[in-house]
Amino acid sequence: MSEVKILLAEKEMPTRWYNIQADMTELPDPPLHPATKKPIGPEDLKPIFPMGLIMQEVSRERWIEIPEEVQKILRLWRPSPLYRARRLEKALDTPARIFYKYEGVSPAGSHKLNTAAAQAYYNKVEGVKRLATETGAGQWGIALSQACNFFGLKCTVYMVKVSYNQKPYRKSVMEIFGSNVIPSPSNLTESGRKILAENPESPGSLGIAISEAVEDAARHEDTNYSLGSVLNHVCLHQTVIGLETKEQMAKAGYYPDVVIGCCGGGSNFAGFAFPFAHDKLTQDAKVRLVAVEPISCPTLTRGLYEYDYGDVAGLAPIVKMYTLGAAFMPPGIHAGGLRYHGDSPLLSKLVRDGVVEAIALGQTSVFGGAVQFARCEGIIPAPESAHAVQAAIQEAVAAREAGEARTILFNMSGHGLLDLPSYDLYMAGKLEDYPLPEEDLRAALEKLPKI
Ligand SMILES: *Cc1c(COP(=O)(O)O)cnc(C)c1O
Repeated sequence: MSEVKILLAEKEMPTRWYNIQADMTELPDPPLHPATKKPIGPEDLKPIFPMGLIMQEVSRERWIEIPEEVQKILRLWRPSPLYRARRLEKALDTPARIFYKYEGVSPAGSHKLNTAAAQAYYNKVEGVKRLATETGAGQWGIALSQACNFFGLKCTVYMVKVSYNQKPYRKSVMEIFGSNVIPSPSNLTESGRKILAENPESPGSLGIAISEAVEDAARHEDTNYSLGSVLNHVCLHQTVIGLETKEQMAKAGYYPDVVIGCCGGGSNFAGFAFPFAHDKLTQDAKVRLVAVEPISCPTLTRGLYEYDYGDVAGLAPIVKMYTLGAAFMPPGIHAGGLRYHGDSPLLSKLVRDGVVEAIALGQTSVFGGAVQFARCEGIIPAPESAHAVQAAIQEAVAAREAGEARTILFNMSGHGLLDLPSYDLYMAGKLEDYPLPEEDLRAALEKLPKI
């Protein structure tokens, strides 16, 4: 076997997703209807989601079969490689072993196609013609555009306006795959028009774009809504990452002491770490699970664990999660995919229960780690993934100082080849850290719904 690359054969790709809800002693509190504030049932979600996904959202079955049509798409790039970062280990002069799973090999360049393919499939089989969604920096928009293209669905993407203007390449990719890309806030929805009336120059936010996409889906019979993170079924679809990684680590002959992933809405972290959380929940494994977020959007490390809206207009369900408040306007840091005000309810609950720990890093150290990693390993990390890279570097340095041969495992959720303007700013010394001021945090948290 190769010294640095641990591969699985195509036939070793997982054929079932792992559902952590089967192993949690206590589930998160139920989602609530935004108007009545009563627990919602499957019927409430039917106007915007297909039944196949709604049932996964509430399932407590441990294993859920991956439909053959979805496996066919996943096999275009899966199983993805696991690498041992030997050159990085050497550069850090650490006794630690550093492994990373690489999701940048998907056609979308990130992990997001794992769930996009599944979501497009379930909508297709239930007769839906079009999906509406939001995208921040554009990775999710690309993944869903590709998946809709594969399954013959139309796709409308509400793209946060500031990114639409600053990241034209991602819009080009979505359009190549046939999507209609609309800068948000737009005048096509009531939610968008309301924001524009208050502030015609609004740069937009993920919370606003979600409201526009949900409204579009709710108003059109043939259209459903699709979300790229946060929800239970999204975390479920991403578990192919961690399931493969466990097999690969076994082939390499190691079990991790620490498992690290970056965290925006929580889906790549969940997909990577939940199969290891299974070992903690059912076999008392000692592995540490570490979610890494930016100090400018510190949901897990400084947010409250409360019921909050998922979007700005209050159209999406109210969920119990760590949150900075739906009114939170994240500063323009360069890891666009890590700027959501909330987090996956499943991940939030596991953090609350002490199964998962969370840390926050500033973007200057994050880009520093990413450049060091790129120079050793040859892959330029997505700015989001770079948070996991830097956390792994810090663990390896701590291992050196303690003289311990720890096994460190992290998820490289995507590559950064469409994020080069951010790297340019870093290289020119123009990136700054934006720790979230306490006043801003308190102001946004004052607007939580009263339950
Ligand atoms: C979207 C994105 C993220 C953040 O989303 P999660 O749901 O927290 O995984 C992280 N990395 C990459 C490359 C992304 O595109």
